[in-house]
Amino acid sequence: MKKKELKSLLEGKLQRHYGVTASEATKNQVYHACAMVVRDILMEKWSATQEEMEAKKAKQVCYLSMEFLLGKSLKNNIYNLSMTDVFQQVLQEMGMDLKALEDIEEDAALGNGGLGRLAACYMDALSAQHLPATGYSILYEYGIFKQRIVEGQQTELPDSWLDSGSCWLVAKPDETVEIRFDGEIEESWDGDHLRIQHRNYTRVNAEPYDMLISGYGSETVNTLRLWQAKSPYSMDMHLFSEGEYLKAIEQQASAEVISKILYPEDKHPEGKSLRIKQQYFFVSASIQSIIKKHMETYGRLDNLPDRVVIQINDTHPAMVIPEMMRIMMDDHGLTWDAAWEITTHSVAYTNHTVMSEALERWPEALIKRILPRIHQIIVEINRRFCDSLWKYFPNNWDKISSMAIVAYDEVRMANLSIAGSFSVNGVSALHSQILKDKVFHDFYVVSPDKFTNVTNGIAYRRWLGQANEPLTSLIRDCIGDGFLRNAEELCTFAPFAKDASVRQKFLEVKKRNKERLAAYIQEHNGIDVDTNSIFDVQAKRLHEYKRQLLNIMQIIKMYFEYKDNPSLQRPSRTFIFGAKAAPGYYMAKQIIRLIHAVADMVNHDPVVQNHMKVVFLEDYKVSIAEILMPAADVSEQISVAGREASGTGNMKFMMNGALTIGTLDGANVEICEAVGEANMFLFGLKADEVEQLLKQGYQPMSYYQSNPWIARILGAIMQGIGRPGGRSVPFVDIANSLLISANGSQADPYLVLADFEEYCRAQREVDRVYSNQDAWNEKAILNVAHSGVFAADRSIQEYNEKIWNLTDLGR
Ligand SMILES: *Cc1c(COP(=O)(O)O)cnc(C)c1O
Repeated sequence: MKKKELKSLLEGKLQRHYGVTASEATKNQVYHACAMVVRDILMEKWSATQEEMEAKKAKQVCYLSMEFLLGKSLKNNIYNLSMTDVFQQVLQEMGMDLKALEDIEEDAALGNGGLGRLAACYMDALSAQHLPATGYSILYEYGIFKQRIVEGQQTELPDSWLDSGSCWLVAKPDETVEIRFDGEIEESWDGDHLRIQHRNYTRVNAEPYDMLISGYGSETVNTLRLWQAKSPYSMDMHLFSEGEYLKAIEQQASAEVISKILYPEDKHPEGKSLRIKQQYFFVSASIQSIIKKHMETYGRLDNLPDRVVIQINDTHPAMVIPEMMRIMMDDHGLTWDAAWEITTHSVAYTNHTVMSEALERWPEALIKRILPRIHQIIVEINRRFCDSLWKYFPNNWDKISSMAIVAYDEVRMANLSIAGSFSVNGVSALHSQILKDKVFHDFYVVSPDKFTNVTNGIAYRRWLGQANEPLTSLIRDCIGDGFLRNAEELCTFAPFAKDASVRQKFLEVKKRNKERLAAYIQEHNGIDVDTNSIFDVQAKRLHEYKRQLLNIMQIIKMYFEYKDNPSLQRPSRTFIFGAKAAPGYYMAKQIIRLIHAVADMVNHDPVVQNHMKVVFLEDYKVSIAEILMPAADVSEQISVAGREASGTGNMKFMMNGALTIGTLDGANVEICEAVGEANMFLFGLKADEVEQLLKQGYQPMSYYQSNPWIARILGAIMQGIGRPGGRSVPFVDIANSLLISANGSQADPYLVLADFEEYCRAQREVDRVYSNQDAWNEKAILNVAHSGVFAADRSIQEYNEKIWNLTDLGR
């Protein structure tokens, strides 16, 4: 598109929607005008994509996920349309700056962390590779909370993102569907057909809002369909006329509360009835809309698995299995066997965690009350499933009850997901192996062919192309720009690691990115950081298994070492954290408080403040990650081995030329294979050693007694940490969690003390390598060059080959 054409489109939007000329328009108005122009362009491609899908009778993937952590859209869409330059020029002529407009947009943060971001990265890659896809989720009015730090502690504020985000949504009120909760089920025989009547139910409407998903240089524009809960009774006039004014409003509010807020627990489900309602609401609306569309096109359901594959992102959408059964049997008259055949050939399940506290289990009574028909179907699925297990494990009731879907008054969503799907995948090689060997071993014995691996990947054109323009243009100067279409071409950048002039340029690029981050830190934290120091970053959800505590303990040790020996010679460091804690997760919040106390101590100590700084970035989110990743020298991936299913933060850092300090966990294993052990800093127990140590009886107290550093650090934590001469805060509960087993639980279950010494050794190795700038930059360049395998494009290709078999719209 030419400058002139874009200019008149923007002026037209400003005129018609706001009644202003370009010179009168506010920044906010210009942002919305840009969004509308982009939306119009996408809408045309979107219609063409829909038509092509119908004409080709295409097979598409329906990606069901409770979370999509999208971030900002304007920049991404303009980039994907290759219109960045023309927008910049036109806006400049209008006296505006594209960058400033991008900042107006709030992140669409309909997710907690990695799982939600993965869903967003996959939608992007699907469009880029012209594969037909629809994402389904909830239009939360409030996304993940905004984090504010007040006196060193996390507080939460609501995130009403729709103010600036709603311009990306296309309302489709005509495609509203009805969802039913509560009530009773009545069965009656109509000849030999069992008729199901649902009585006294509560109705909630699900209204769809579609977001258009573009892909880089692609004509395919896919859909992300977000459901909003609406009361079908705009106001109960009957109640109202009887003077029950409040009751009339309450009824409306109780329906609409379903899509009000995203649950902020990451990998720690709470058994709340509203959460069940959210899950069923979104699953029922999505599958109703899928089946309706399919019936309109084909008039039959037996070929559904040839046209649609339903990928469930973790077990949150697992109720799609009984819901599909319900619709096909009760509404379309299929037999159980026919419905089961179709369901189990349509649904595929991605597992995201092996930690038992994160595996979803619902009280059976709750499901029975809120979803009486779904409960009946789950009970019947369970009965038939347990029967079928008998042939594999005759008389072995222990085994069968451990695999059951309903047992001990609970419904186990992972078991339901495995029983009702044709594919189960883990998200890294190690994780998928652990699923087969341990967590789901018995299921694997029964159906080994169901299990597969697809290692996670990231939308690298966002995380490298857009977030790190200086590095992108350096790479382009060396190898051309083919790598922006095909990430594997990044490997041709590897030989340039030996080129001194490229290493020098890489150093300059890193410096620029560190300066950008330093300015952000100065503005938001008021801390002056040294861009010549090592930027050592740990940014991810705060969780004990991710071991931010290990990091901060090493920082305390380093502080003591400078205090003991002020002339200690080491490269200086800036430790940077970004992390939200679930609001009800006490220990996670304590750890955030400890990080702040340590920052207060270190940053105000005249002896050490020139050697090290500690920075906590408030409100970690996608748009902050986009500033953070390009500026990192060191990527902290230090989870206890065997617990991080994959990680994707690790991939973003690597691609931006950070060196990983990490355990052999999740995708770190594959990062190591790709870049080589010599180009990262490995430490710590391996996954099998962790299991073994826990089995034989891990005694963290013995590390406390034998390692004087651990004793000194934990002593300080217990006594109190704070700035010299100021108030200090004791963290007794943190120390106790590492040392004392409370009512039978394992002390230090994530082996912080067991890995502490090795971690410190690896950190000294970081210092040693960094002291040789040439060697460091060579390794950093090799990390970039070998990161191509972690592109979401590759993951999507694997999903397509192993599980989906979609129609390619590009052919
Ligand atoms: C990538 C990303 C994550 C996931 O990070 P991990 O280190 O893999 O846990 C979480 N939050 C945001 C905002 C991200 O961009």
